Amino acid sequence: MDEQAIRDVEQITGMKRGTVPFTYLGVTVSPKSLSIQDCQCLVDKVVTRIRGIGSRKLSYEGRVVLIKAVLSTLHCYWARIFILPKIVVSKIESVCISYLWHGSDHKKSPSLVVWDQVCTPRKQGGLGVRDFHVWNLATIGKYAWWVANKEDHLWVRWVHAVYTKISSLWDYTPGFGCSWAWRKICQVKQLIKPYLLSLSSEEHYAIKAGYQWFKPDGGKVHWYPWMLNEWIIPKQQFICWLIAHKRLLTQDRLIRMGVIQSNTCFLCGLQEENLDHLFFECPFSSHSRKLVGDWCRFQIPQQNCIRWWIELRQAAACKKKVLAMVLAGLMYHVWQCRNRCRV
Ligand SMILES: [Zn+2]
Repeated sequence: MDEQAIRDVEQITGMKRGTVPFTYLGVTVSPKSLSIQDCQCLVDKVVTRIRGIGSRKLSYEGRVVLIKAVLSTLHCYWARIFILPKIVVSKIESVCISYLWHGSDHKKSPSLVVWDQVCTPRKQGGLGVRDFHVWNLATIGKYAWWVANKEDHLWVRWVHAVYTKISSLWDYTPGFGCSWAWRKICQVKQLIKPYLLSLSSEEHYAIKAGYQWFKPDGGKVHWYPWMLNEWIIPKQQFICWLIAHKRLLTQDRLIRMGVIQSNTCFLCGLQEENLDHLFFECPFSSHSRKLVGDWCRFQIPQQNCIRWWIELRQAAACKKKVLAMVLAGLMYHVWQCRNRCRV
């Protein structure tokens, strides 16, 4: 349009002339495909949330809640609108890993539990955090399903007219001249093909279902009711989760890592510290366990927590929940006492 026509339209409609790219509903709108630089604002948003005063002071379990409810949701929102480059998803994941274990967005030291385990459901011994890479694949799977089903969508018609033409989507391979986004959709199409073909004509593709197909359920861990017990205080639950995975930083682990040279239990000063000694064999924890057992009128066995759980399975549902809560509190406070003695 010539300048005079544009000015006339502005005057008649009262609308103002804008430029691209611009931000709408928190995301960048651009006529070109999204570059890594365009996605930097998403990474910056995640980092800003982490650097907030409230976020820095959160406990481990509080950080898990922030990752699940806020940081993961930010990624989810963008992934539903754009096809995010893998490097951007990796950056967000790396920031979240650093935040969970160190409370900061840039530390690179090793994690206590691998991220893949953190991203499994609580029943399977994880923390139920969404796997960013797998969710990204599942959202791209939605486009593959649209094209495969020839959804009534302008973009789908354009894809069939320009790319696939008369060939079936399943036989089609993108040529060198195709866009990055279309090649990415075709890659995911090959991965998710068995699932898409298994859907009946009445069924619709759901991103959550696609996610579960990419990340199928593993077996339950025997201590999963402990992780689902809402009566247990979350920060105590997190310590129990580390104990169950044998990842608590006791002195025997620090020696293996070369951080310290000698190992003596801080609580009794008699034996070497490891998980079994600290929570089950140490005179301090044995005495604490007896006092707590007398108080709640339950004979807490002296064996490790697996044995404890077997004993608990024989109790009634409500009693089991209360006892699990008491045991979690006991283990948490033994760990806190040990940390205070160390200082
Ligand atoms: Zn001891």
